[in-house]
Amino acid sequence: MSGQKYVYFFGAGKADGDATMRNTLGGKGANLAEMINIGLPVPAGFTLNTEVCIHYSKTKGEYPEGVEAQVEEALAKVEEAMGAKFGCDTNPLLVSCRSGARESMPGMMDTVLNIGLNDTTVQALAKQSGNEAFAWDSYRRFVQMYGEVVMGMKGADEDPFEHALEAKREAAGVQYDSELNAEQLKELVAEFKTLIKEGTGKDFPTDPKQQIWGAIGAVFSSWDNDRAVVYRRDYGIPHEWGTACNVQAMVYGNLGDDCATGVGLTRNCSTGEPGFCGDYLINAQGEDVVAGIRTPKQIESTLSTDMPDGYKQLDDIGRKLEQHYKDVQDIEFTIQRGKVWMLQTRNAKRTGFAAVRIAVDMVNEGLVSKEQAITKRRIPADDLNQLLQPIFDPAEKEKAAKEGNLLTKGINAGPGAACGHICFSAEEAEAIYNRDNSAELVLVRRETSPEDLRGMRVSKGILTALGGASSHAALVSRQMGKACIVGASELKIDSVAGTITAGDKVLKNGDWISIDGFTGEVFAGKVETKPSEIVEVLISKTMKPEDSETYQRYEQLMSWVDDIRKLKVRTNADQPDQAAEAISFGAEGIGLCRTEHMFFHHLAEIREMIAAGDVESRTKAVNKLLPFQREDFSGIFRAMNGLPVTIRLLDPPLHEFLSDRHLEENPTLGEELANELGVTVDFIRRRVEELHELNPMLGHRGCRLGIVYPEITAMQARAIMEAACDVQKEGIDVYPEIMVPLAGFKTEFDNQANIIRAEAEKVLEEKGVKVDYLVGTMVELPRAAICADQIAETAEFFSFGTNDLTQTTLGMSRDDYGTFIGHYRENDIIPSDPFQTIDQDGVGRLMQTGVERGRSTRSGLKIGICGEHGGDPASVIFCHELGLDYVSCSPFRVPIARLSAAQAVLEEKA
Ligand code: PEP
Ligand code: MG
Repeated sequence: MSGQKYVYFFGAGKADGDATMRNTLGGKGANLAEMINIGLPVPAGFTLNTEVCIHYSKTKGEYPEGVEAQVEEALAKVEEAMGAKFGCDTNPLLVSCRSGARESMPGMMDTVLNIGLNDTTVQALAKQSGNEAFAWDSYRRFVQMYGEVVMGMKGADEDPFEHALEAKREAAGVQYDSELNAEQLKELVAEFKTLIKEGTGKDFPTDPKQQIWGAIGAVFSSWDNDRAVVYRRDYGIPHEWGTACNVQAMVYGNLGDDCATGVGLTRNCSTGEPGFCGDYLINAQGEDVVAGIRTPKQIESTLSTDMPDGYKQLDDIGRKLEQHYKDVQDIEFTIQRGKVWMLQTRNAKRTGFAAVRIAVDMVNEGLVSKEQAITKRRIPADDLNQLLQPIFDPAEKEKAAKEGNLLTKGINAGPGAACGHICFSAEEAEAIYNRDNSAELVLVRRETSPEDLRGMRVSKGILTALGGASSHAALVSRQMGKACIVGASELKIDSVAGTITAGDKVLKNGDWISIDGFTGEVFAGKVETKPSEIVEVLISKTMKPEDSETYQRYEQLMSWVDDIRKLKVRTNADQPDQAAEAISFGAEGIGLCRTEHMFFHHLAEIREMIAAGDVESRTKAVNKLLPFQREDFSGIFRAMNGLPVTIRLLDPPLHEFLSDRHLEENPTLGEELANELGVTVDFIRRRVEELHELNPMLGHRGCRLGIVYPEITAMQARAIMEAACDVQKEGIDVYPEIMVPLAGFKTEFDNQANIIRAEAEKVLEEKGVKVDYLVGTMVELPRAAICADQIAETAEFFSFGTNDLTQTTLGMSRDDYGTFIGHYRENDIIPSDPFQTIDQDGVGRLMQTGVERGRSTRSGLKIGICGEHGGDPASVIFCHELGLDYVSCSPFRVPIARLSAAQAVLEEKA
């Protein structure tokens, strides 16, 4: 044969392909070939490769030149291997036609079974099998499937075929299709054909060749069906990959009671427990098991008694497959007259729990190395979340959805599941909690502001209608380890009326609501959650390590992870308790302490500082904050016990603390401030007006605040250094790294660095203590990345603030992009949420420039990342590739970042 190869034969002990060829043969095709290569029983067949699909999709239904001839040739080989002929009226070969993409997309594409049957071949099949009912059952299944998949009889409100089947069962007085006799099945075939003629205007094709090409075309077309497209988008599978198509000789699980069909897993993929498990049906064909028409039996409970020999063959095959693939396998099989035939094997999908257990068990069994056990494919780092957060019982969640309680889907901003009574205000949440600290609450806000912090602290979860993945609500709740959904824009939240409206459903203050921060789903009512054992051991200490096997496996896994990774992992924390939690999760320092978050507890003083009209009164107000800040920093230094702490100076626009809204919501606030500052209420109002900005994210914030109000920078530098000296004197090492926010010009950084260094030196002299400290900057603006060589002349470290860097590079507001990001994702405008996963082509290139230029001036410049991307697996891998020293993320993401950092090393080696 000349020209390009599109069709790959497998069967009779040899195959054209193997497991390494999944890009061209798809997972199913490559593994069918591989199973043949390792001597397992697989019915012969051939695979049309993914290129055929790509061509078919591009040309709207044409095949590349040479494909037809190659199919003919491969079909002849299948006939030879199986000792039967396609379309033959005495000894007919029947085939199946199935999709199979590079990554498995279970149930998303189409399949046709029993191809090759017509009014003549059915007679031959009946004769050969000695089972007329079987032959006619196979035929009626084929007409039904072909009618639906190839001839487009799908999608009717009421499935006409099922309707006819039901009528036939009723007339025959039987419960199951398998109880219909040959005559009744024959009638059904005729009825189905009539239905097809009526529904499509076309005759059912009797020519087997026409049937096979119809089925192949339908499989390729199904790559572009709606559910496949949506699935690919959700799982990041490129649309241009295409699917392969596998044509394979049929084997029969419906020839009688010594036949069966089933699907199985070589270990339990929910819990990870060792041992075969799965479903099978005696005297049935493949799709019956998944279709739910009959309740399947469990392999682990009854197959060994139903079919002892079949069970033994299957168990041996399972072991051989695990040994060969070195992973849990998800298989499809048919038992025909006592002999097991393999129809598929693939690495099984598993929950986070199962992933960890299987990985650890397989290392302990000597099946895989530690490096193999922790790869991204076996344990997607994000899946660790399932072990660290409360989760919904999957059955309960499904029940809630079935009962119509799913209200909407927002942005999944803080993983974990939470249910509680709706509470519309932070004060109310706090008041309820103070009365009863076992109260379960979900704080529901249109958006959150700093004052909501106290309410967030006492709530199980947070739900907002506005905002994105790096909005205030999102990042604060992640730091607290709370479930959070933001940007649930379909919800109408009326906190005055105390109602949430979603379509025709109205929920009131105090009603139960449940939120799934993993998926963004919001449910009315209560969905039960289960707590994380790892958190019970490490954080709440309500469980002993020796009582939790889950915890022990987690610890073992994480010790391998730490041996492999190169990136350090720090945390974003601004409270000693958060810092302590992060250390329990393995944090090696604080990468971002947002000082403004510390101010949330001293709102009166900070408002005074903001409202002050001159340097003198501002300095007075600022100095009131000094002891609080010093105490906060001391607490953090103590908690970090010798680990480095990066403290970022005041950053947000000041009106976040004091604005019209605050004055309106708190009618005595203006007067209190006026009294404290010795000014009039009018003065306060004017000052608030002056502070108002049209575009605050690009306004007077970041180092611009410290440049215009240097007394704030000086106070913060003093508080940090005084705390450092005090704690060092207690015998605890301290390594403060003072960080300037939002600098774009070297002059901006220098202005602040000079104030910081001058104040720091003063403190060190006053206290008579030596403390090593660094002064560095965040890289949050494209200009800072581009001019990194200049800034690094004086900056001693960099930390990428990718929340702002994404906002300023994309010109996309981090607080407002929720309104259009869903549309962007659905229409493939961008591949992922850029505030969750670094936009490597844009923001990533700026980061690369920042790293290269920064280190060109100061070799060995310490560089980290502290934007929310620091806890996102794909972004962590990218940071490793860029050569950063550390990533910093919220405490509950620290284990995920550790695992991702190790996976980055393994990917680099691969
Ligand atoms: C950032 O911009 O990435 C950052 C960490 O700072 P913040 O989120 O506080 O603006
Ligand atoms: Mg920032």
